[in-house]
Formats: sequence, structure tokens, C-alpha cells
Amino acid sequence: MYLLESIRHCIKSLILAITELHKTPTFMKKQLLPALLLGLGLSGTIAAQNQEHPHRCSTSEYITEQLRLHPEYQQLIDNAETETQRNAPAGQPQAVITIPVVFHVVYQNATENINDTRLLEQLQVLNEDYSKTNADASSVPAAWQGIAANCEIQFCLAQRDANGNATTGIERTQTNVASFSFNDNVKSTSTGGANAWDRDKYLNIWVCDLGNQLLGYSSIVGGPANVDGVVLHYKYTGKTGATSPYNKGRTATHEVGHWLNLRHIWGDDGGACNGTDFVTDTPNQASENYGCFAVNNVQTDACTGAAPGIMWMNYMDYTDDACMYMFTAGQKTRMVNCLNNTRTALLTSNGCQPVGINELTLAAALNLFPSPTTGKLTVSFGALQVKQCDIMVYNMLGEEVIRQHYDALTENEVRLDLTGRASGVYFVEVRQGNLRVTRKIMLD
Ligand SMILES: [Zn+2]
Repeated sequence: MYLLESIRHCIKSLILAITELHKTPTFMKKQLLPALLLGLGLSGTIAAQNQEHPHRCSTSEYITEQLRLHPEYQQLIDNAETETQRNAPAGQPQAVITIPVVFHVVYQNATENINDTRLLEQLQVLNEDYSKTNADASSVPAAWQGIAANCEIQFCLAQRDANGNATTGIERTQTNVASFSFNDNVKSTSTGGANAWDRDKYLNIWVCDLGNQLLGYSSIVGGPANVDGVVLHYKYTGKTGATSPYNKGRTATHEVGHWLNLRHIWGDDGGACNGTDFVTDTPNQASENYGCFAVNNVQTDACTGAAPGIMWMNYMDYTDDACMYMFTAGQKTRMVNCLNNTRTALLTSNGCQPVGINELTLAAALNLFPSPTTGKLTVSFGALQVKQCDIMVYNMLGEEVIRQHYDALTENEVRLDLTGRASGVYFVEVRQGNLRVTRKIMLD
């Protein structure tokens, strides 16, 4: 009797779900049905595939589930998409956007409570991948070197919390939950997790045990604030001690891409060629790739048959960490647009501004010497404890000649080198969080 009831319930759910399917945008339909079948235990092949490969990302399944629970979120997704496709305000030079990050480490035991070193490694990977300073950027095939993007997005550890108190940007919460899933329980203290910080000021990154199959997932862009952010399995966060082949911090790179409104490179169309990632400079790709390909290995598929083939080394594919190493210019445009529209509040976040520092104290502490200089220049913060800053140097024409980002300063000064540049006046701009202080120096 119970079995019969279960089967009846299953069939009812399936009919309901298929009705929902008709209301879902085409690009999502192809992956919704397999997810449903998986949920009903009817798809042996997909389950087998998942055993073969841990599930690299559940963002699509998460969105599907959220839409089932809250059909009204479709409007939020559509609104965010419209905003992302709207260009950034014209006439503003692209500046590096720095996003304050808070790590919420939710752990049951010491193994899951990964150390600060790994979290800092993770931050560094994000900073490298989003500025194209990753060591493997040189492996991008020649055909795509021109579109491999420096996204000019950086990440800093929060230095003040939402109440204005000093913080390390790392929050540790012990839980009695053995493992979480993509149900958002990790995002609330009431379900054994840790509450989100204000998403208008921080990128929330939860690190927890996500079970045996799942590496990570991202929230919906434009979705509810209390669940906004990225969730990473502790095993695949950072590098030292992380589990191969996902031990180079690229799960975070991928999920933050979703958080900035990137789609999977194959368009989530389940092998068809009619899906889209809304990016024109990524090749049409049939489905995800797992494992690794050798550098310069040309792969083609049902949707892209000619060299240079499909872009399996894109961060928004599913390849191993060692085999993904690029975003495209089109993907950068989407992410920057997302930051300038749906996530615009982050641009003025003071989350990485140390408590007690304001424009006046920064200006008072800052000391640039010697000036005039013959090339070497020291920028000192005096007694201020500055860990993170950006320094730009402009010539008299306003052209940027030096740009440096620092996210883990251990001393109170940095050194710049203008040796070999034309003598004359230069302007050094120091950015700390949303503070800006500019000084004039002379180069002999
Ligand atoms: Zn994904």
C-alpha cells in the first residue's frame, strides 16, 4: 500500500513538474528533466555519471529547485538578465573593482575547519584568475589569446563587519550538521549554518561539507539577500590539503562566475546546440567536459566541428582545476555589467576599509619618498595597519603607467619602480577600500 502511494505521489510530482517545465525558459528545460528524473530515482545513467565524476557545480539544479519552490523568482532572474545585458554607464574608464569577501567556515570537526592559509590561498586564486595573472594563462591557445580577459575584478578579505567592527573576514561556526547540500541550510544559524552578511557590502562564501558528490554552487543573481553568495565544499577550497583533481581553487573561480551572472559555457542545453551562455565569443558547445586535455589539444563536438574547437579550458566548463584557465572578454563584460547594475552597491562597500581609517587619516599617514626620485619610490602607510590596497601611477597625460594590487601586505609600505620612465610629474593614487588619496611626485 505504501509503495503504491509512493508511486502515485511520484507520478503526480512528475506531472506537476512537467507542467512547470512549460513555463520554464528553453535554455533551462533540457537540464530540468534529467534533474527531475534523478530526483525520482529513474535515471541510472545520470547517477552513474555522477559517481564517475563528483558534481562540479549544482548551480543549475539549485536554480531549478528554487524556481519550483518560488516560481516568482523567474521574474528576478529575468530582471537581472536584462540588467546584465545592459552595458555599464558609458564614459567611465574601467577601474579595478575590488569586492570585500567574508568566509563563513561551517564545520563539524577539525578536518572541515580548514585553516586561514587555505582561505588566503583561495582568495589569491580568485585574484589571479580574475586578473589573468594565473600562471597557466599562458596555456590559452593562440586562437583565443586575444579574447582571454583580465576581468579587472579583485577580492579582499573584509576588515570590518556589517556593524562597523573590526573583523578578520573569516567567521568560524561549529555545527552538528554532518553535511549540507544545495538546500541553503548552511546559510542560516537556524539550520546549523551561519547567516549571510549584507550582500550589498560583501561576497559571502560559505565553506562546509557538501557531502560526497557536490563541489559547490552559487545563489541566483537578483535573488533573496539572505541566501546570496557562493557555497564551497571544504575539500575543494584553497590548494594545500585540497582534494585532487579539484585542488587549485577553481571551484570558487567557477562559482563566483555564476554569482556575477555567468552561465555554463555549453548553455545548459543538455547536448543540443540551441542553448546559450549569452556570450558571443565563447564557441557553441554541446555539453560539459570532465577531466583534462593537454595544452593546445583541439576538441570538437556536435555543435562546433572546426578548429580551434570548443573552449574546454574556460572556467565555466567542468574540466579539472589544472585544465581551466580563462575567461573571455564577453564573459568579463557580463560580470562587469552585473557589478555595475544588479550588484552596484558593492562598488562603494567599505568592507575592506580597516576600522579607524578614513580619507583624512589615510592622507595624514601616507608618505611617499623620495620626491624627487630617480626611479625607486616608497609608499609608506606610517602607523596605519593597511593590508589591502590598490596603487595606480598616472603620467601628466593621465595615462596609467603602473597598477598594483596588494591583498596581504605584511609591512606598512610598498615599493614602486619608475626607473626608465620619462622625467616629470606623476600622480600616485592610493585606493584603500573606497578611499582615494592622490599624491604628486617628481621623477628626475
Ligand atoms: Zn556551474
